[in-house]
Amino acid sequence: MTGTLITAEVDFDAQGKQTGYLRVPHSVHRSAYGWLPVPITVIHNGDGPTLVAMAGSHGDEYEGQIAISGLASSLEPEQLRGRLILLPMLNFPAAQAGLRTSPIDDSNLNRLFPGDPKGSPSEMIAHYVEEVIMPMADYAIDLHSGGSSLFYPPTLLRGLGKGGDEAATLKRMQEALDLPFAWVFTSGGGRDSTARTAMGAANRKGVVNVMAELGGAGVVTPDILKRTTRGLHRLLHALEMLPDYRPDPMQGTRELHARGSVYAYRDGVFEPLKTIGDDVVEAETVGLIHHPDTPLQAPDEITSPYAGMILCQRAMAPVKRGDAVYQIAADARET
Ligand SMILES: [Zn+2]
Repeated sequence: MTGTLITAEVDFDAQGKQTGYLRVPHSVHRSAYGWLPVPITVIHNGDGPTLVAMAGSHGDEYEGQIAISGLASSLEPEQLRGRLILLPMLNFPAAQAGLRTSPIDDSNLNRLFPGDPKGSPSEMIAHYVEEVIMPMADYAIDLHSGGSSLFYPPTLLRGLGKGGDEAATLKRMQEALDLPFAWVFTSGGGRDSTARTAMGAANRKGVVNVMAELGGAGVVTPDILKRTTRGLHRLLHALEMLPDYRPDPMQGTRELHARGSVYAYRDGVFEPLKTIGDDVVEAETVGLIHHPDTPLQAPDEITSPYAGMILCQRAMAPVKRGDAVYQIAADARET
């Protein structure tokens, strides 16, 4: 027994398409016996693998929420082999509010795993994913974006895999998603993972999994949404779950290793001097922090501690000391 207090309106073993809610108990002033509705769809047709596709762990990241909802409405059981578990708004209160963190418990779901079955709503959801959902899964994909504060080009995130089979499967999933960039982690993963993310939860349960960063800035980018939907269909096909789908030709993925983030050290207004895809050299000036509150004060220069390519960029102009303004990555073969 997992000890979860969350109940599912869907039967994970039933065949066909079902949709409903995970009921997260939440007793409050206006609703003594109430629950928070986390939307879920299960599409199940006979033998085959189980894929879990999640989005909305951070509520201000939208392409994944739309693309996964699109699969729920467009796919019919006859098209599928195996079982697809779709969770488009995993931290429902955060997604409903359009916020990274849940307004109910101020929690960042993707830093809470393995969660707590008797904890706050976000902790209960994390625990449910780790102890109920992941043990059913063979594969998982968790869709993110840069949220309100950052912007990423479509980027797959994956580990190297423990052992030959997992490494080959992860590469196959990367090629299926066919996003322009892949951020490949050089450490972590496996069943002894201590990561507090959904990726950590999947790894601890032996689920072969990837995640993706898809845009950001608190908006939906139509090209990135198309790329996301295409990638999910291609992934299902590559996992032999969508046999009649005909994937279009692969466009190719540039594999990167993250070098680190560049941070603001002063409060002010951030002016980027570089953009996503630009190359930078170590100690290069990559941005300015302006001080319009002090008219004659010169702007501060932000320099990059790393050489590499700008993978992600801050989407908000106001900065405080400690805010990340860029993430730098380098080609995998060069690190
Ligand atoms: Zn996120």
